[in-house]
Amino acid sequence: MGLVEGNGMAASRRPMPVHILPMLAMLSDLPRDESAYAFEYKWDGIRAVYFSDGYTRKVETRNLKDVTSSYPELDGVALALEGRSAVLDGEIVAIGEDGSPSFGLLQHRLGLTNPQELARRTTEIPITYMIFDVMYLDGRSTESLPYSERRELLESLSLEGPAWRTPPSYHGEGKALLAAARENRLEGVMAKRPSGIYRQGERTRDWLKVKIVHGQEFVVGGYKPLSTGASGVGSILVGYYDRKGRADRVAKGDSTAGGPKLVYAGKVGSGFTERDRTRLKSLLDERRRQTSPFEDDDEEHAVFAEPELVAEIEYRGWTGSGRLRQPAFKGLRYDKPAAEVTKEQKVTT
Ligand code: AMP
Repeated sequence: MGLVEGNGMAASRRPMPVHILPMLAMLSDLPRDESAYAFEYKWDGIRAVYFSDGYTRKVETRNLKDVTSSYPELDGVALALEGRSAVLDGEIVAIGEDGSPSFGLLQHRLGLTNPQELARRTTEIPITYMIFDVMYLDGRSTESLPYSERRELLESLSLEGPAWRTPPSYHGEGKALLAAARENRLEGVMAKRPSGIYRQGERTRDWLKVKIVHGQEFVVGGYKPLSTGASGVGSILVGYYDRKGRADRVAKGDSTAGGPKLVYAGKVGSGFTERDRTRLKSLLDERRRQTSPFEDDDEEHAVFAEPELVAEIEYRGWTGSGRLRQPAFKGLRYDKPAAEVTKEQKVTT
């Protein structure tokens, strides 16, 4: 069905949205009642919303940045839609040598503007768009349809191509999918409530993320130079904003509560390539400041920086004193604003 011909649903026709704020998920263990959820793999890449009005196309990140020209291999999705208008939600991933998505590898595809370099990297590091939702189809918004119906519509589109796929959704098979995710070295699984509508920009219990590897984004507020004297960071200093602490202080009538505090989470000294070390040093030197941006760090001989960069960090848990255990750098994120970085808390189901 094309964009302009009638389909009996003219009353609900709406112009295609210009932007969509992607729906977010809450951190959780596997829900106790697996039969109340549909499960999907959780892909480790960057969130991307794809808009096609049947003629033109646009790819946007979760902070509404237009990245269409960075992913030329996704031009084909609009063709695969055969003239239908659609807005799709999904994750762009780069598959590493071991066959699993690598956020580190995807870094080399971000922010490329030089056409020759883009063409070279497109061949060297192909990406795949893992499509998992549809928010608009054939001139109608599908946001208020339950997940189960959106999923049927999505599957009816049969979007399987050289650089895009529609990975399956499994009803009630959380444990099995989590085991398969572990075997395939994936990040975890998502549990989605079949009745849940698409809530733009909201983090609700309708979408739960169940992680195998602990990992989240942190704000970078400085670094320690390499002890060898070589140029580059030896480790980076990371933290997160404590919104709850501030809300509690305000509730107790503390008029000095101020803005949210940047809580220190520790030093991250591994996971870097040589290139990461020099690149991070120059990015942090550009943002250099005299005083620590953290409320409570205890680092000496550190170079402090304005808390603007956001890094994805993998870790093995937290120490009793609130520091990350065995953290490793995975890459910088440009799709999550630093001010929104908080410590992830699990919800119970
Ligand atoms: P996190 O980045 O750890 O907060 O995890 C949530 C993110 O996982 C979402 O914002 C998406 O970018 C990503 N994601 C990966 N796979 C899926 C999926 N199947 N459904 C929804 N989000 C997904």
